[in-house]
Parts: sequence; structure tokens; C-alpha cells
Amino acid sequence: MDGMDVKDGKDRTDRTDRERAVRRDAAVRAAVDQGLLGPGSPLVGLLDVTGVRESAAALRAAFEAVTAPGTPVLHAFAVKATPLVPVLRLLHEEGLGAEVASPGELALARAAGVPSARTVLDSPAKTPAELREALELGIAVNADSPQELARVDALVGPATPRSPLGIRVNPQVGGGSIEALSTATATSKFGVGLRDEGAREWVVRAYLDRPWLTRLHAHTGSQGIPLPLMAQGVAQTYALAEEINARVGRRQIDTLDIGGGLPVNFGSEATAPTYAQYARLLGETVPGLFDGRYGLVTEFGRSLLAKHGTVVARVEYTKSAGGRPVAVTHAGVQVATRTVYVPEAWPLRLAAYDAEGRPKTGPEVVQDVAGPACFAGDLLAEGRALAPLEPGDHVAALDTGAYCFAHHYAYNSLPRPGIHGFAPDGSGGIAFATVREPQTVREIVAEAGQAHASALTALRAPERA
Ligand SMILES: *Cc1c(COP(=O)(O)O)cnc(C)c1O
Repeated sequence: MDGMDVKDGKDRTDRTDRERAVRRDAAVRAAVDQGLLGPGSPLVGLLDVTGVRESAAALRAAFEAVTAPGTPVLHAFAVKATPLVPVLRLLHEEGLGAEVASPGELALARAAGVPSARTVLDSPAKTPAELREALELGIAVNADSPQELARVDALVGPATPRSPLGIRVNPQVGGGSIEALSTATATSKFGVGLRDEGAREWVVRAYLDRPWLTRLHAHTGSQGIPLPLMAQGVAQTYALAEEINARVGRRQIDTLDIGGGLPVNFGSEATAPTYAQYARLLGETVPGLFDGRYGLVTEFGRSLLAKHGTVVARVEYTKSAGGRPVAVTHAGVQVATRTVYVPEAWPLRLAAYDAEGRPKTGPEVVQDVAGPACFAGDLLAEGRALAPLEPGDHVAALDTGAYCFAHHYAYNSLPRPGIHGFAPDGSGGIAFATVREPQTVREIVAEAGQAHASALTALRAPERA
């Protein structure tokens, strides 16, 4: 690819990013206008349907550009990033499948209509019942450990399984900047650590003994892993597949599952890195990967959804403490759990809007933006320069479409906010669709054991004779 193409690609990306910001502003304004956001509903999640479609298309195009014609590629969205049925249906319509890691996630994918043949089950703790269900449905399964493979053996028996089956390996190429999300460290809990004594030979033997093991899987990490390290993880996995196929003497492994993990830029509007950059880097680092001999599975999550979600909260009060202005809002630990507990690793961009939902300008003031929860650390941002916030204004937490607004944390019995998808309505306005209803106080009480209110007071040890 010459410099000109790269520049064209970059210009296009910049325009996409700018247009997304414009749509977001319009959506916040419309949410206030249409009453989705107001004194009675001070917190909502907004999801940019146009943006999600664009990211899905960019992912498909990036791999189409580098793979040999006819190469089967399944992009399985990592459901844990945004576990919402309408989102899975939207992505299914955009040609993506689903990567699931629990019975709940599998049920969500099925409710969304994702076919079994486009679903992949990975999890480090699959029960026998989960494995049986997956094998009955023909869902692809990656065994995480020797013990799990033994369970799969027992279920498969002498038959030829319907499900494509593989083993997850850990190339142990090292971690990134966020320890909790680094899955390829020496001691990671995931997969079979390839550099451990005897492990590589065990994996090779596992394939020699089981002609039905046709896939090999690795997911080298999520947010915080540098691209070259991700590509190294894929390179190691590819090299192992080549070794196994050479030892077996046929192309037994026909599909490589290269995981997800493309990092998201939370520092600005720019989509960086892009799928196209990653796909090109993979092509350079692992030349044989895309030549058509292997089908591919990818499992991206955060990079498909993060930039398309916005949490918008009403400012309830403002105050000043120790000389620092504080805006007390309705968004905190319940929707941005990682940011609140590990702010250094998960900083969020914030945007200020006025009471009508218009971008708020004016000389910026360094202020804290606090959430509603009753502990001092419940801050969306500390010492952030923003237009001066007043009661009735709104604060938006940007890039919160993945691992955030759908990941409610029930602290202080705060309700799950409603989530609304939005798209241009064709006549200059914004149309909304409910993705998830807001949780009601009645539901909170029911889920907190209302039906068992007397369970503890009625429980008595039998009287001694
Ligand atoms: C979490 C996870 C993913 C998705 O990671 P992202 O960083 O969201 O792209 C993919 N595969 C596996 C096995 C995972 O655990």
C-alpha cells in the first residue's frame, strides 16, 4: 500500500470520527428534547447505531483487504463487551457472530438470533452441562485446559463432533500496561501456557490423538496491549498450528482463532489504532496467516462498541470543597466501575452540556465530577477542566459503549439506567429506540429478596430437648 492510500484512509477515518461527534451532540440535545433525560430520569445510556454499523463494516473490510479471496472469516463479537440482545442482533445483521463465555452470554446470543455456527464458546470455567449444551448445538468450543479437554473427550466419545473444537493456548508473550487485562503473561489463568515445561509437546500430542481438534485459539490480551505484542501472540499461535499440521501430516488445524483485544483510544475522538492497521501488521508479521490455508475467527469487543456509547447524567447539585468546585451528578461507580476504582488505568473523556442538552462552552474551570454513590472515591473525574457546571446541566462520559453502561454495579441500590439506540431520522432529527428499559425501584426491591422478607427471622435452630 502506498503513502497516498494510507493518507486517504486516514482522512476518511478523521471524517468518520468528526461525524460521530456531531451525531453524539445531536443525540444529547434530542434526548433532553424528547424527555429521555430530565429531572425524573437523570441518567441514560445512548448508543450510536450508525457508528456501530460503521465499525462492523470497517472490521469486515480490514480483513477482506488482506485475506486471500474465499478465506472463511468469522468475526465473533465478544459479548461480554456489551451484553445487550439488540446490540447482538444489530451486529448479526452486520455479518458478525458472537463469542460467549457463560450460559448467560450464550442465551443472549441465541435470543438475538445468532446461529450456532456463528457462535464460539470460550471460558475458563465451563461446566459439564455447558459443554454438553454447546456440543449439542454445534457451537465452536475452545478447551482452556487439559482437564477441560478430558471432559470434552468424554462427551465426544467415539463420534465425530458437530462442533468445531480447539484448544486455547497462551503464547506467554508478556503483558501490557493493564495487568488485569493481560492474558498472555507467564502466569495468566487462561489457556495452556506454551512455554511451560512439556506444555507444547502436550498440545501437539493432544491434536495427534484427536483428529477432531481442528482449531487453535489464543487471545493475547485486551486494552493496554501494544499492537506488535498482539501480533507476536498471533505469530506464535500460527507457528504452533504449522508445527502440529506438519507432525500430523495433514491440515488438521483448518481454522485459527486469533482473539480480539484491539485497544481503544480513550484520550481523543480519533479511532486509533484501526482494524486496517492491525490487519496490515498481522499480514506483515505472520505472512502465511492470510494466504487462504486457514479460516479465521476474530473476537473483538471493546473496539467495536466503546466509541459508540455515551453515558449522560444530569448535574443535581454543585458545591465547593477545599476550594475545589464539585459537580454532583447521577453517573458514577454504578456505570463506570473501572474508572472509579482504577482511575489511572481507565480515564474517561467528559463533555459538558447545558440544561437543554447543548454543548456548554465558556472559560473552563478545574472541577471534580462526582457520582451519586456514598463513598468519597465515587468520581468520574478529578480535577478536570470543563465549562463551569450548574445544577440542571448535563455531563456526558464518552466512549462508554463497551464494558461500561451495560455493566451495572448495584452499589447503593442505584438503578440500571435505560439505554437508547439513536440514528438520524431522515428529516434532520434524531430517532431513538429502547435497547434496555431503565430498572424500576420495584424491580430493585424484588431482586433484593422481597419475596423472602421473613426468611431470616423465621429461621430458628431446633430447640434442644
Ligand atoms: C474479553 C475477550 C475478548 C474481547 O476482548 P476486547 O479487548 O474487548 O476486544 C476476546 N476473546 C476472549 C477470549 C476474551 O476473553
